[in-house]
Amino acid sequence: MHEEPHVYIDGAWVSPATPAWIETRSAITGEVHGRVPACSEQELQQALAAAQRAAPGWAATAPAQRSRYLAKIADLLAEQRDALARLVSSEVGMPYKLSARIQIDVPVQAWRAFATLATEYPFETRHGNSLIVREPMGVAACITPWNYPLHQVTGKVAAALAAGCTVVLKPSEVAPLSAFALCRAVHEAGLPPGVLNMVTGDGRVLGEALVSAAEVDVVSFTGSTAVGRRVMELASRSIKRVALELGGKSAAVVLDDADLALVVRRTVTACFLNSGQTCSALTRLLIPQDRYEEARELAARAAATFLVGDPFQPETRMGPLASAKQLERARALVEQGLAEGAELVAGGPQTPPGCGGGYFMQPTVLGRVAPDATIAQVEVFGPVLSIITFRDEEEAIRIANGTRYGLAASVWSADAQRALSVARRLKAGQVEVNGAPFNETAPFGGYRESGIGRENGRFGLETFLEVKSIQLPA
Ligand code: NAD
Repeated sequence: MHEEPHVYIDGAWVSPATPAWIETRSAITGEVHGRVPACSEQELQQALAAAQRAAPGWAATAPAQRSRYLAKIADLLAEQRDALARLVSSEVGMPYKLSARIQIDVPVQAWRAFATLATEYPFETRHGNSLIVREPMGVAACITPWNYPLHQVTGKVAAALAAGCTVVLKPSEVAPLSAFALCRAVHEAGLPPGVLNMVTGDGRVLGEALVSAAEVDVVSFTGSTAVGRRVMELASRSIKRVALELGGKSAAVVLDDADLALVVRRTVTACFLNSGQTCSALTRLLIPQDRYEEARELAARAAATFLVGDPFQPETRMGPLASAKQLERARALVEQGLAEGAELVAGGPQTPPGCGGGYFMQPTVLGRVAPDATIAQVEVFGPVLSIITFRDEEEAIRIANGTRYGLAASVWSADAQRALSVARRLKAGQVEVNGAPFNETAPFGGYRESGIGRENGRFGLETFLEVKSIQLPA
């Protein structure tokens, strides 16, 4: 049982004035495995006041000094790699061997990358007779989801701190535990009090109060499109800057000359990563219509290699989903997909054999999915791949762009130039050509209802910077 009785405010661990708890459940057993405070407005006010008090001092701290703090935090997190990976695997369900690399190493690298960026970023430049100054916006509100909990907190908090903003963080109530470990690292690294503050609690109550607070200068939110819309509406009342990283329904576009066996294997793997609980998951496989039967067989074979089970067993390739709510939603969408005419290629809505207790689902592939079917339009956030066929390249691009989202995509062709020209026409914030690797410091974010703004690297830092032109006499 992981019990966290305090939240982190103004450099100290604080007991909420009115004790109330939020319980967290193990994805593996469904049982309560942790509890964290359900904060009230009172703790939020304390956190906001502390962040506001600390803002001028942190903004005035030299970027090189901010960088040293960030690098120290990276070191402290890296020392806890194993414990943190275990924690995230039991909260979210990702196989432990992947959690260590993806859920912990990637955010540690991101802390280091922001430490470097703080020293290299041109905070002041000249433009004609003007001095262009990029200064920290002030207090940042950071609200994060549960699927890559430490990674998402890092994408916001490390960027905000590197930029010179102070932060009030509200992590997801489904997977909050790694954020406590981060606050401990921040404390041990010796960051001045009030630079990072964390409150935990229900999104609708605490999240809305945080977004609406007069003390907040910029809101960075990652989560569902529905909540993102609400966040933007609340922030608009005081014209706050908002950065939104929202949902997706990303397509893998397989051109007729691609190596189908390779593409299908890679796309199935990408779709089922973290049990499909990845915002940029490639959940629509777009195949030339005359290659459907071949793709169907390959996808069924690839899905069969995803042994579902306890994330701590070495043979497990797919763990459970993070919550009962998530599991119910994913199953219902599979049922709806079948009712709307899709063919069941692998898996299905039933519980996988031998998996009781937690939130387990079969890796599922649906075939002959119509491009406008619900399952092809709505984000599932579970291990469900839809195979959709197209007649020609033009139709493939139209289908790929034919959802309200625009987060990610991949394009596959034996001709790299052809793949690149299709990549240029896709309305998505990041597009992989022929399975090229993820770049942690390249901008990440969405077109259309997948969001506003970009995270990571220089673009992520700039979310937290205001621009001032100072005209100088000749
Ligand atoms: P969610 O929208 O339910 O919650 C996200 C966060 O917002 C949580 O901390 C929650 O407490 C808070 N929240 C809830 N209601 C709120 C409100 N009314 N006002 C303010 N805050 C509120 O999302 P989730 O279920 O935690 O995460 C899954 C979603 O996140 C998926 O849609 C996924 O695509 C998206 N996501 C996007 C990205 C990206 O980078 N684009 C990354 C990861 C997840």
